[in-house]
Amino acid sequence: MEDPKRQTLGWNLVERERKRELIDAIASGAANRGPAYVELDLNDRCNVACYFCNQQDVRTQSQIPLPRAVELIDELVLTGLRSVRLSGGGDPLFHKEIVGILDHLAERNIVIDNVTTNGVALTDDIATRLVENEARELILSLNAVDGEDYHRMMRVKPGLFDQALDNVRHLIELRGDAPKPAVVVQFLLDQDNLERVAEMYDLGRSLRPDRIAINMVLNIPGERIASGRLLTPGDIDRARPLIEEIFYRDLDAQLVQIDFPAPGWQEMLAAARVATGHEPLDLFPTAPTFKDENGGCFFAWYSSAVSGNGDLYPCCLLMQPDLEPLGNIRDASFAEQWNGPRYQTMRDEMRQVLLDPEGAAREPERFKILREPCIQPHSCWLKNIYFRADEEFYQELGTALDGVREKERVRAEARELKQRARSFIDRHPRWNSTWDLARERTRPLRTWIARRTGLPVTEEL
Ligand code: SF4
Ligand code: SF4
Repeated sequence: MEDPKRQTLGWNLVERERKRELIDAIASGAANRGPAYVELDLNDRCNVACYFCNQQDVRTQSQIPLPRAVELIDELVLTGLRSVRLSGGGDPLFHKEIVGILDHLAERNIVIDNVTTNGVALTDDIATRLVENEARELILSLNAVDGEDYHRMMRVKPGLFDQALDNVRHLIELRGDAPKPAVVVQFLLDQDNLERVAEMYDLGRSLRPDRIAINMVLNIPGERIASGRLLTPGDIDRARPLIEEIFYRDLDAQLVQIDFPAPGWQEMLAAARVATGHEPLDLFPTAPTFKDENGGCFFAWYSSAVSGNGDLYPCCLLMQPDLEPLGNIRDASFAEQWNGPRYQTMRDEMRQVLLDPEGAAREPERFKILREPCIQPHSCWLKNIYFRADEEFYQELGTALDGVREKERVRAEARELKQRARSFIDRHPRWNSTWDLARERTRPLRTWIARRTGLPVTEEL
């Protein structure tokens, strides 16, 4: 049975046959019919102004109006869309026509896999729809511990903190005993509120959520955050007893998910877990068939991200000012972009990384769209974390990639052989006719081998 607390990025909704189509498309490098999962950042406006917002450099204040959003959803449904994430840009619930968008998603049977919001605009109208339409998960970015901390972090009046709390309490009340939407309350730690992490935990727990996520504020592109605000390795010893305290408080409920992706912090968390007996949440299991060499990103066949001004990106992590968008849905239909040259270039690049991860990592400069995290192993957490529990998929993907790798190997060897023969003949022209005759005579045999094995021995030799 589906566990709404387990995030899958919509993967649990994709049928086996569709996954096979995706593998075939990866193997051939061709486009498939369309994304099964889309991040819709329909609104670039926000109702708060977090000092750590990583969207502040790319924000346009635009939003996709309801009629265009409806058209886009309808078009995506035709090519197999199954689920969406509503995030942003800005706050997705601050979109002026969000209720109409939620209604249309429900009408077209599109699952809302995730809504990420600060909760300030989570009105009764919206909460009712999220509960009735069984959105899988709502992440409440509360971040702060009280109104004053909220004012400091989100740079708005402190009263909005209570409004966000009231709104999420109302949603949880409406949900009652139903499992969806699973609610995740998220807090962010910096130099000024680290000491209050236990208060955060208690506040989060009082909301009766399904998970309490505690992260640290990370710097944003352009190193825009003054270093004095961020936690550093020098704070690890100060943090450890505070973290141990929340692990103790959480032993009976196991709600806490803490991840500090910074040097030294993960080791501290592991040690604090051992000391307190707190088990990490196993949210992202890995199937035995998953192999790192087949773990490259396949978002170019699976997903897309749409920003508030209509720009298209590979994923939310690559919505960066220095990446030219893959297209824009104001200029053309989504399908035209999906089948257009920029998406195809991205597919070619992802296929190269999937087929030869080591070669790609050695030559990152040959990639035009993919960035370092897409190319270097273990640099992007998003690329496979939601999929790698899928035993059958990674079994089949591994077999398909190995088949293509073998063909590429034979092709390269055949090319090399042909080049050597050519250069020999160039030096000894009297062998020219013998070479042509040999090629002619072996053609039926090579054609037979190519048909039986699929190896490229006709065109390369
Ligand atoms: S709530 Fe999110 S989108 Fe809005 S300012 Fe904060 S981080 Fe940025
Ligand atoms: S590897 Fe990561 S950053 Fe690159 S496209 Fe995939 S999900 Fe996005």
